[in-house]
Amino acid sequence: MQTYDYIIVGAGAAGCLLANRLSADSRKQVLLLEAGGPDNNPNIHIPAAFYKLFRQKEDWDFETVPQAHMNGRRMYQPRGKVLGGSSSINAMIYMRGHQADYDGWAELGAAGWAYEEVLPYFKKFEQNLVFNDDYHGVDGELTVRNAACPHPLSQTLLRAAQQAGYPLNEDFNGARQEGFGFFQVNIRDGKRCSAARAFLHPVMGRANLSVATGALAHRIIIENGRATGVTYNYQRQLISASAAREVILCAGAFGSPQLLMLSGIGDEKNLRELGLDVHAHLPGVGQNLQDHLLSGISFHSIQPNTLDGADRLPRLIPNLLRFLIAKKGPFTSNVAECGGFIKSSPELPAPDLQFHFAPAFYLRHGFENPKTGHGFGLGTTIIYPFSRGHLRLASPDPHDKPLIDPNYFSDERDVRAMLHGCRIAENILRQPAFDPYRGELFMPPTPLHDDEAAIAFLREWTETLYHPVGACKMGVDDMAAVDPQLRVRQVAGLRVADASVMPRIVRGNTNAPTMMIAEKAADMILKD
Ligand SMILES: Cc1cc2nc3c(=O)[nH]c(=O)nc-3n(C[C@H](O)[C@H](O)[C@H](O)COP(=O)(O)OP(=O)(O)OC[C@H]3O[C@@H](n4cnc5c(N)ncnc54)[C@H](O)[C@@H]3O)c2cc1C
Repeated sequence: MQTYDYIIVGAGAAGCLLANRLSADSRKQVLLLEAGGPDNNPNIHIPAAFYKLFRQKEDWDFETVPQAHMNGRRMYQPRGKVLGGSSSINAMIYMRGHQADYDGWAELGAAGWAYEEVLPYFKKFEQNLVFNDDYHGVDGELTVRNAACPHPLSQTLLRAAQQAGYPLNEDFNGARQEGFGFFQVNIRDGKRCSAARAFLHPVMGRANLSVATGALAHRIIIENGRATGVTYNYQRQLISASAAREVILCAGAFGSPQLLMLSGIGDEKNLRELGLDVHAHLPGVGQNLQDHLLSGISFHSIQPNTLDGADRLPRLIPNLLRFLIAKKGPFTSNVAECGGFIKSSPELPAPDLQFHFAPAFYLRHGFENPKTGHGFGLGTTIIYPFSRGHLRLASPDPHDKPLIDPNYFSDERDVRAMLHGCRIAENILRQPAFDPYRGELFMPPTPLHDDEAAIAFLREWTETLYHPVGACKMGVDDMAAVDPQLRVRQVAGLRVADASVMPRIVRGNTNAPTMMIAEKAADMILKD
């Protein structure tokens, strides 16, 4: 059996960063296991093509169990299955969430994770090409910049938001989150800057770092209460590798809790029912699942100038050439170029609504976009949701997808907040700035005046904004899976460092917060 110092499972947003940091010391042997393949699909690197990766081999293509409060729908859940993980298929928005999120984590028992304590870790991996101040880093590996070629309709959205009475905000990751503006993005030289591009490819040549793609981890090997290695499938063989120091799970929001349960760490009763040996009774594993939802208001555009059709003839060839030669044009767009944050009520300590504007149709993850015509839309996201779900094993077979139940809209407050946000979105899109562009309302089919009809629309058309977190939460209570040092409780030599450890979802997109978790984890692991 090959022995390493560290085995990292999952080369996603967290795993790539962690592999970089742990292999920086050439005396430490590091194995990085990734179930997906290399990141060589061109659609990974063309920012505007991200949704073309959905249901392709780079996507786990999960779905939820029927959602009781969503008309019984099984809802699609994309997750990256490729080097870079979900950071290779995401929309590249660079967002940290609100300062209150991290102070809230600390209050919930995650000592060491308050905003002032995590800020240095955010800055460490950030290469911001625009801001260089107390809030930003410029020497890191992850490129953060403004859109190279913003779409004119995105500017229109900002004018409309002002007409509706909302302030502008240049930097959502600075002193203040509220207001509307352009999102900063992880794009370098016109192409996606995924975790693989930022952290992994530059160090793939290190002799002490082994990266195995197409390697599905089956189980953590646990001996006498200590994680001593990992069993994984590689080139149709079951291989075991041992870890002299630690095994670190970076398999993501669904992968990490699934792997813990497959390894006998979770709710004792559930595990025994599946015939699994129990190594640690941790009932919180798989619980506390949280996500952000998106409901879009969209209009037909009477001007044929949106991103719709930018990848179809006759516009395809000039746009592709512009992308390849000048690194400019619509293909460099991350589609959701701008948006904003609003408090639905002034008493709130922080915004509870986020808005993403698309100068294009974006219906059901792009699967149901009209084939002709042009449109634009403003999506509402409730960023402080109250609904909580869970994840369980479907079977003890590591190839079987887990049963994912986010329990969306189970808390009525989420439905109310979404309705409120959608009305704000419709109001913004009806401002005079959009008069030269706005055609008929496309979605919802009727305006949102009537509560009952509007809520029926929300239950049918709301989808995930792709931010599941929390099913291995850190903390000190009985339902915590890991402690504030991210060590799995009751098992030595094992940590989880990815989106699944968030005790509460942050008020914003989750990629950068996950990288921060990995950066802090690296620091803790190396200090140990
Ligand atoms: C379509 C989409 C759009 C998004 N847009 C944005 C955005 O614009 N901005 C933003 O901030 N966030 C966005 N996100 C969310 C963000 O990308 C994720 O929160 C972040 O990538 C989570 O990082 P992670 O390391 O926890 O998991 P991931 O990045 O998903 O990585 C987990 C890795 O583990 C691997 N893995 C899982 N199980 C195993 C196993 N058993 N064995 C081996 N390998 C395994 C997976 O294949 C994957 O590579 C988006 C996500 C998606 C899917």
